[in-house]
Amino acid sequence: MYWCVHCYELNPAVDEPCVRCGRPVKRPAGFSYNDQLIWALGHPDGDRAALAAQTLGRRRVRAALPALRQAVQECRDPYLATAALRSAIEIAGVDELAPWLEDLTRCDSFMVRTVAQRTVERARVIVAAADPKTANARIRSPHRSRGSRRCRRFHRSPSPGRKSVERRCRRSSAIRGRSAGPACSPSRSGRSRARRHS
Ligand SMILES: [Zn+2]
Repeated sequence: MYWCVHCYELNPAVDEPCVRCGRPVKRPAGFSYNDQLIWALGHPDGDRAALAAQTLGRRRVRAALPALRQAVQECRDPYLATAALRSAIEIAGVDELAPWLEDLTRCDSFMVRTVAQRTVERARVIVAAADPKTANARIRSPHRSRGSRRCRRFHRSPSPGRKSVERRCRRSSAIRGRSAGPACSPSRSGRSRARRHS
């Protein structure tokens, strides 16, 4: 039996017109493997369609994006729809699909909605982490965090009313070792370093 390339009807012969739509059952010349996968997205066998959706994502087939989006929108099978959505995200990325993903966070299908919500939420966390202020705070924070051992770098006391005092950072100095080398003493270079992370 042969599936009609146009209407997915099963036909007894590949060289005869389709019993349902009357068009050639046979695949046209130049029908590539990617074309077959895109075609399979509309297959009546849901498992086959979902597998095709996953494969298109893994292969990053950009030409499949419209068909993948259509499979999500039609949502005839939630497993196919979620596989198609994941693959569309894999191919195009969150930024490109942002407005559509926002819409899908209100989708009727629970599975599709959940994937969209998690993706959008994850993207927000990544954007927040990449914010310059947060990133700077993260870079500077290690020398302010608590540690059992002490850093050999010196810091000036931040208290404005009191006489400025050189003090050691509380951060571990495991990498540098215990001995305070010339670079870590409160010399000119030490002071400039202190200013940088006080
Ligand atoms: Zn047909």
